[in-house]
Amino acid sequence: MSYYQKVEWTITPKSVPKVFRNCPKCGEKTHYVNSTKFRVNANGKNLDVWLIYNCSKCKSKWNMPIHERVNPKEIDPKRYDCYIKNDKDLAHHIGFDPDIHRRNNSELVYESMEFDVLVSKVEHKDYTEHSQEITIRCPLSLNLRLDKLLADQTGISRSNLSKTLSDHLPLKKRIKDGMTFILPGDC
Ligand SMILES: [Zn+2]
Repeated sequence: MSYYQKVEWTITPKSVPKVFRNCPKCGEKTHYVNSTKFRVNANGKNLDVWLIYNCSKCKSKWNMPIHERVNPKEIDPKRYDCYIKNDKDLAHHIGFDPDIHRRNNSELVYESMEFDVLVSKVEHKDYTEHSQEITIRCPLSLNLRLDKLLADQTGISRSNLSKTLSDHLPLKKRIKDGMTFILPGDC
């Protein structure tokens, strides 16, 4: 008889992805940094909202469209308030939003992004094996591969993980919120 220890890994990124795009001033593709500031332009029945990015080299601005020529009544008042107040959480959230970035053809840079993993036990059972059932909690789209996360958490190299676990786990897949898998005891 074997029991699993059920745990949750809550993953919180420490930064927001940069955007790799052409900077007209630098004359080449550079990394643009999320300034966490919005620009709002309300003109009668038309509302425009942008999230401001800055070129990491020359600080030039790129205003990424969030809403273009929408009726202000269509925007939730609480959300509008967040735009006006430069709400950091919302700016971070939008920084990860794959739909908005796809719409703006922005190429997100996830390399060298760091994240915190909070491990919490869901079920306290006696268990005879050390196998763990792990559920990922990660509402943001992190573009993080499972093998990278496991290597960081277990200290085992990605090549060794591949040798021992590739038959059981989708190691090359990106993690998703709610994803559950079993990590054997010898890991
Ligand atoms: Zn530049």
